[in-house]
Amino acid sequence: MTQIVENIESKINVSTIRSKFPVLDQKVNGKKLIYFDNAATTQKPEVVINALSDYYRQYNANIHRGLHTLAERATAAYEDTRKTVQQFINASEAEEVIFTSGTTESINLVANAYGRKFLHPGDEVIISGLEHHSNIVPWQLICQEKSALLKVIPIDAKGDIDLEAFKKIITDKTKIVAVNHISNSLGTINPVREIVQIAHDSGAIVLLDGAQATAHVDIDVQELDCDFYAFSAHKLYGPTGVGVLYGKRKLLESMNPFQSGGEMIKEVTFEKTTFNDIPYKFEAGTPNIADVIAFNEALKFVIGLGNKEDVLSYEQTLLNEATERLKEIPGLTIIGEADQKIAVISFIIEGLHHFDIGMMLDAKGIAVRTGHHCTQPLMNRFGIDGTVRVSFSIYNTLEEVSIFADSLKQIVEKWR
Ligand code: PMP
Repeated sequence: MTQIVENIESKINVSTIRSKFPVLDQKVNGKKLIYFDNAATTQKPEVVINALSDYYRQYNANIHRGLHTLAERATAAYEDTRKTVQQFINASEAEEVIFTSGTTESINLVANAYGRKFLHPGDEVIISGLEHHSNIVPWQLICQEKSALLKVIPIDAKGDIDLEAFKKIITDKTKIVAVNHISNSLGTINPVREIVQIAHDSGAIVLLDGAQATAHVDIDVQELDCDFYAFSAHKLYGPTGVGVLYGKRKLLESMNPFQSGGEMIKEVTFEKTTFNDIPYKFEAGTPNIADVIAFNEALKFVIGLGNKEDVLSYEQTLLNEATERLKEIPGLTIIGEADQKIAVISFIIEGLHHFDIGMMLDAKGIAVRTGHHCTQPLMNRFGIDGTVRVSFSIYNTLEEVSIFADSLKQIVEKWR
């Protein structure tokens, strides 16, 4: 299976896409790099790298407060990214888009600024057994502080959320439901529209952790009707250190600030402070200007890929081929086989530790992730301490999948 065949079958032109990512064109340990760690972070197209450099070379200035030309240019570029994000997730207004340092900070913002104000003793927060630690620990901490109860929706053997169990554990005391849109460890695409509906019917608000979703599926926050949506730029071909929190205006306005200082204020006296309007109320201090500006180029790159269904369908071809090839390897078990999943495969191999597999693949130039993937409770659910995880992106090819599967087979034959 060559890249040419892929190009004919798919609307995605992989060769052209790959040529935009300089990092992919290199040898690692003497072999052509195969980068299968996209769920941890994606690589960056040249336009993103150039945007960072252009900002520092041409118009580095602090934003919002300056009247000079460079400050105005930087402010306009920063605010332009906000508009692109609004369009990308179909938020009804740009003010509902808050820049943070990443998904983790976005969730902490909601847990602290919403949870601290609106949770009371005896209230409940519901998460799922699929969550990343970033969507567990902030809720644990705020529940402890507010004497609220943290409940967990169980996961079935295939790696799906048990919706019936969710309907049973949600009560009129449930104030917040926080689940991921797509699981980072298993790739499960969760029925988030239904989860939002069930939660709203019960009077709870919903935060969706979209860290793994934005690069693979269409995000329409109005259609989803979620109250908050959190994601990171670095998993979406953008720079590290930038994230987004989308929130419905009414909720954002009702919340207390998360962090305080410059920019988030309207007026300060020693007696009292009044707060800025959203989104600035939640963007205290000098933000990550350069990376927010460069993130715009990443978003434009993704929008330029065209229909997300074509992206998903191309990645599903990689997923299906890899799944089939891995199942031929004796002693290999795939963890998480939900019907709806993105191109992420977690697996274990009898008699071989996941760390050793990861190191042996690295020796062959193949980058995969090993360990618990910041989902220790999920690993416990499956009675394991970790997996090998391969996660594909739009620039990966069937040829790479084939080299990976052959390499893994050789490792198993040699070492097991
Ligand atoms: N949630 C999920 C589902 C994730 O995959 C990740 C990153 N692995 C996070 C949250 C945290 O994202 P970040 O480290 O970018 O804040």
